[in-house]
Amino acid sequence: MIVSVASGKGGTGKTTVAAALASVWNAPLDAMDLDVEAPNLHLFLNPKIKDCRIANIEIPVVDEARCTHCRMCSELCQFKAISDLGRILLIFPEMCHGCGGCITVCPEKALKPGTRELGEICWGHAGEQDFFMGRLRIGEAMSPPLMREVKSYRKKLRGREDRDLIIDAPPGTSCPAINAVMDSDVICLVTEPTPFGLYDLKLAVEAFRPLGPPMGVVVNRDGIGNDAVLDFCSQEGLPVLTKIPFSRRLAEAYSDGRVITQAAPELTPLFKDLAEKLRQLSRASSPAKEATSHA
Ligand code: SF4
Ligand code: SF4
Repeated sequence: MIVSVASGKGGTGKTTVAAALASVWNAPLDAMDLDVEAPNLHLFLNPKIKDCRIANIEIPVVDEARCTHCRMCSELCQFKAISDLGRILLIFPEMCHGCGGCITVCPEKALKPGTRELGEICWGHAGEQDFFMGRLRIGEAMSPPLMREVKSYRKKLRGREDRDLIIDAPPGTSCPAINAVMDSDVICLVTEPTPFGLYDLKLAVEAFRPLGPPMGVVVNRDGIGNDAVLDFCSQEGLPVLTKIPFSRRLAEAYSDGRVITQAAPELTPLFKDLAEKLRQLSRASSPAKEATSHA
């Protein structure tokens, strides 16, 4: 089962929830930080990193001597990353998504694969769990290709099929967030009971609902704000999976980089119950798939 922990905005406690969920998970688990612009799940889980490697994207490099300026490549590229000016072929590496289409379509074999560094992928152990993380190179604008590389790196390691996966998704509702959650079995939306939390929860529901996975809501910092988030969930048929009480002790645990189930062990049953509810949500939406997944 793949669980994505997501939120419409940053600062709602998404990573706190992902780390606490991982701490109580009762089956073989991988934890993955796909908030590649600002990964911080490792600060909670303290993994022992076994391997870090550079992740590249494949970009075209032109051999001007071969190019006949037929424009087949520039007409194909939907990202406008390659442009033919008649006598010169311009390639904009930072706009290239690495699909390889231009290289394939070139009749003169004038385009060869080159590389651009996206960032790094790290893998390690956090106790009995495995941990994966992508970290975008400073100045790099495109995070989805790196996120795909992190997912694919995990798949290449043996024995992943029977392990559950918790993804700490990037906040927001743009392309990176969609890429992170799109192949999940269930999406856990973390929000807070404030007008800001409600506004961004609405955006997240609107963005993620067409993707198909069932969604449930975790209300963090319960006790501040009002009931508008609960009313919205009720109107939308979104299950409220749990409420995490607002407390100074939890805020201090967060600021110390501690998993809140360790700082406040009385919350362990709450997160175990959340894990079970996520399983039930996934099972209800896809019984056949769940029957073949772990536990
Ligand atoms: S498809 Fe090949 S030959 Fe045609 S413009 Fe592009 S690089 Fe040049
Ligand atoms: S690899 Fe794909 S995205 Fe990049 S320039 Fe070629 S067609 Fe465009």
